[in-house]
Amino acid sequence: MTAERTNLFDLPRARLESFMSAVDDKPYRTHQIMKWAYHERQLDFDGMTNLSKRFRAWLAEQSEYRLPEVVHRYESVDGTVKWVVRVGNGNCVETVLIPDKGRNTLCVSSQVGCMLDCTFCSTGKQGFNGNLSTGEIVGQVWLANAMLAERGESVSNVVLMGMGEPLLNFDAVVAATELMMDDLAFGISKRRVTVSTAGVVPAIYELAKVSDVSLAISLHAPNDALRNTLVPLNRKYPIAQLLDACRHYVEGLGERRSLTMEYTLIKGVNDELVHAKELAALLRDVRCKINLIPFNPFPASGFERPDPAAVRKFQTYLMNNGYATMLRTTRGDDIAAACGQLVGQVKDRTRRQERYLARVRAEEAGGSEELA
Ligand code: SAH
Repeated sequence: MTAERTNLFDLPRARLESFMSAVDDKPYRTHQIMKWAYHERQLDFDGMTNLSKRFRAWLAEQSEYRLPEVVHRYESVDGTVKWVVRVGNGNCVETVLIPDKGRNTLCVSSQVGCMLDCTFCSTGKQGFNGNLSTGEIVGQVWLANAMLAERGESVSNVVLMGMGEPLLNFDAVVAATELMMDDLAFGISKRRVTVSTAGVVPAIYELAKVSDVSLAISLHAPNDALRNTLVPLNRKYPIAQLLDACRHYVEGLGERRSLTMEYTLIKGVNDELVHAKELAALLRDVRCKINLIPFNPFPASGFERPDPAAVRKFQTYLMNNGYATMLRTTRGDDIAAACGQLVGQVKDRTRRQERYLARVRAEEAGGSEELA
């Protein structure tokens, strides 16, 4: 078996330096190569003309810049773009670019499917098939940048809110965020690179030791009884523990970090004024912003989007109580690119997908009976 060449997209700067030290220990080599790959978008070593021929030959023998293959690209009427990229073993994940008022926010995936199975998220229904590599995560950013470069733009914000639970793919995700924030790579500020988690508490403490990235918490409920029904992980790490970890993260040593609470509003489930009041009280001593996301439907979800009036009331209450509260407008739902609609192609190892598809078929059959 021939060994696969090292994918240099897997290596943040320090690791690229040590990889190269085998043949050349001058740090400026690393700078040159990274600038070619990330700034000039030149991935072919032969095109890296300020490197010696011998060095280029060595690089080509040992390594390559390998991108995930783009299987489809969809464009929404609102400018949102969704890529389906192949990540090996017949699996695909999705990446979404959301252009908005001069910002280009990219929503990237970190796993094939997801293990957590939050009841209102379609990714969970696909089951799980493993982690993405660092290269597969940053490859998504590189591909979006290549498209944006055609109109003189680049990715300005990255959110790890695509498929998967980033903190259950910790090492690869941390390395990928290092490249996102490295000036020699994507050079995005830490305020604009956000790791989103359903609440893997021990990993939040680990993250505080190694990173300054912005953190988003998928909270969705103001008490444990309700959150247990939406985010099964809450049974393992209940809200009090989660908020302790959050306070630790934002108040950690050094410069303060940014924290956002995500709250998907679901009709008749968590969207009433009593929930807003309970939420405001719960977060009183947590320095955070709140992001409200009206539920995005998918087949057989069993949930509905709230009425706009209920959403406004919820938001107004939080704002009147001193919380910076953003309402995330639904983008790209004509191409199934909105929050919670990313499904990719997951060769499920958990049989969850099978059970979900059976429910979808049952619902469809039920629906057609009604019509008949
Ligand atoms: N596992 C991570 C990353 C996924 S983020 C996390 O849970 O944070 C995806 C975001 O979209 C989360 O805030 C998630 O709760 C939200 N979401 C999932 N399904 C949704 C749906 N159907 N409608 C609206 N938001 C949804």
